[in-house]
Amino acid sequence: MSVVVFIDSSEGKVAKSAAEAVTYARKVADKIGGDVTALAFGSVSADDLKAVGINGANKVVVARNIAKLDPQQATRFVTAQVEAAGASVAIFSFDPTGKAVAPRVATKLGAGIVSGAIDLPELDGGFIVKKNVFSGKAFAHVSITSDKKVISLLPNSIKAEKSGSDAEVVEDTNDYGTAGLTVKELKMDSGAGIPLPEAETVVSAGRGLKGPENWGMIEELAVELGAATACSRPVADIGWRPHHEHVGQTGVAIRPNLYFAIGISGAIQHLAGVNGSKVMVAINTDPEAPFFKAAHYGVVGDAFEVVPKLIEAVKKFKASQN
Ligand code: FAD
Repeated sequence: MSVVVFIDSSEGKVAKSAAEAVTYARKVADKIGGDVTALAFGSVSADDLKAVGINGANKVVVARNIAKLDPQQATRFVTAQVEAAGASVAIFSFDPTGKAVAPRVATKLGAGIVSGAIDLPELDGGFIVKKNVFSGKAFAHVSITSDKKVISLLPNSIKAEKSGSDAEVVEDTNDYGTAGLTVKELKMDSGAGIPLPEAETVVSAGRGLKGPENWGMIEELAVELGAATACSRPVADIGWRPHHEHVGQTGVAIRPNLYFAIGISGAIQHLAGVNGSKVMVAINTDPEAPFFKAAHYGVVGDAFEVVPKLIEAVKKFKASQN
């Protein structure tokens, strides 16, 4: 028995979520026995790939001729490597790439899948994986009964740990067929350029901001905090912000360490995507806004007064640290 873990990358660097996924894979392998093989593709730095060993991978197999973001090629690659390693568990991050590839791999392998796992599997009485259900209001403990198992891990659910040394890196030059899609352009997010699902701090705003022209202060706060920007659904629907920033039940589900909700009422559908955040701060003019019931800290006040003060305070604090 062994475990394979798929790691994503961006601009030649291994993604932050990879350290968590590899740590998770190491812990699963420690429970069931066997090695951990990490699978990467594209033009990732060799040093970054070796360093994946520090989180517990024994080996990294990299397919450099696979086009970035092609789920079909990635699926063929992962499936072949699962067979080659005789692996019983394949692990992904529950990020856009993992969401596209993990279900395809599960289908090819005839494997049971748990998407968005938040904890290690329990092996007492089976192979049982915990995940959020009903918009984060309950947990499901899902038993995977197939021989091969696929799990995608919700980012920020476990802490990346260092347990090993540099991994052996092996190049896979096999042909995994033609790419079904081509990436024409990659656009960086606003804010600090951190992908939303990976961000430890998120600055999010809603309809209380009145219009897209007022997002400058939100982006500035995000840059100062090294945070990603997000928004409520109506804001994306009206076109004030891009759809990939929309968080909630029908948007991206995130679990950052710190979530700022600025001018967001706190509707249940919004909270569903953010209530796994470790600390939530709400800024709202309405003391009765539902977000104040969910938030750990609240500021009753006008965003147009509070946010500039917050930016100044963060700048002052950072200057005092230099
Ligand atoms: P509003 O509800 O209009 O709230 C604006 C808030 O800003 C108010 O609380 C107001 O007091 C405050 N405010 C106003 N001026 C200021 C100021 N100057 N300073 C500070 N605060 C101010 N929503 C999502 O976000 N994500 C989802 O995934 C999602 N999925 C949905 C799925 C379904 C099936 C349905 C029916 C709805 C869904 N919604 C979702 C919509 C959701 O129900 C709410 O309508 C939405 O979240 C409200 O967005 P908002 O808080 O930005 O706007």
